[in-house]
Amino acid sequence: MSWHILGAGSLGSLWATRLSRAGVPVRLVLRNRARLAAYQAAGGLTLVEDDQANLYPIVAETADASTPIRRLLVACKAYDAEAAVASIASRLSAEAELILLQNGIGSQQEVAARVPRARCILASSTEGAFRDGAFRVVFAGRGHTWLGTSDESHAPAWLDDLTRAGIPHDWTTDILTRLWRKLALNCAINPLTVLHDCRNGELANHPEQVASLCAELAELLLTCGQTAAAEGLLDEVQRVIQSTAANYSSMHQDVAQGRRTEIGYLLDRACTEGHRRGLALPRLTALQARLKETLALRGLPTD
Ligand code: NAP
Repeated sequence: MSWHILGAGSLGSLWATRLSRAGVPVRLVLRNRARLAAYQAAGGLTLVEDDQANLYPIVAETADASTPIRRLLVACKAYDAEAAVASIASRLSAEAELILLQNGIGSQQEVAARVPRARCILASSTEGAFRDGAFRVVFAGRGHTWLGTSDESHAPAWLDDLTRAGIPHDWTTDILTRLWRKLALNCAINPLTVLHDCRNGELANHPEQVASLCAELAELLLTCGQTAAAEGLLDEVQRVIQSTAANYSSMHQDVAQGRRTEIGYLLDRACTEGHRRGLALPRLTALQARLKETLALRGLPTD
């Protein structure tokens, strides 16, 4: 059974190379013929791990290929996921399963609505990777991936493929708690690193700002029924600020490199969910406005 991987970016390449070297059949689905030609010129995907670069000549195709898709890893950014899945929807077999790697909340529902007969498995990952060249990915941070469904269904047998590939993972019945918790951590840290133009560790110099955002985020999580995700939020945010002190957040990296951010599925989503439930969330709303101003000033999309 072949895995199709939609999006050969950082995480998609990290999964594709590890699955492929473990002998699991993998096919990459690239956005168009120009990207396919560039991929073929590169000769495959390169994974840089512990300073060692290895090339994996994984088979690639475009969305309009005709082979049926039974298992699909969706590895695009949250704002691209729905359109990317729409481009291969006609190739999904009746028992198709999709694994959604997107950060934040909202893109998963957009994808599920687009392919209502497919089984959508949500994932939340703490692994880190970035691209340092064409079809070349650096494995920057070891981590763990949690997978699960919103209806708490059974774990699929193909999790064995992940074990064979050395992709640390667990099946969980509370994947939504994980996604909400990660959204809250992201909202407490990433926008501030953009506004202060700093590494994560420098947020230790803004303790009141961080604490007041965490208080509002915890209130939001509780109102959304995400009690477990709200527990000890400030403590964890402070731990992340310390343990990743030298890092630039993903949002800071996006802005610095002139790339679109995932604000629409993170801070925007937090504000929208709160306002819908009658919460004022003054700190988060002010943060959202300032972040959008900064994005607009840099000519980046504000959604
Ligand atoms: P990325 O490096 O930007 O990769 C996204 C890939 O999707 C790109 O290669 C892009 O193609 C491709 N794509 C977009 N639309 C497509 C389409 N219609 N058809 C085919 N391919 C398409 O992003 P990433 O960092 O891997 O992030 C993916 C998701 O994982 C995000 O939601 C992110 O927040 C989450 N995540 C990332 C990390 C990490 O360390 N990178 C960690 C945890 C979670 P082009 O190359 O042609 O633009």
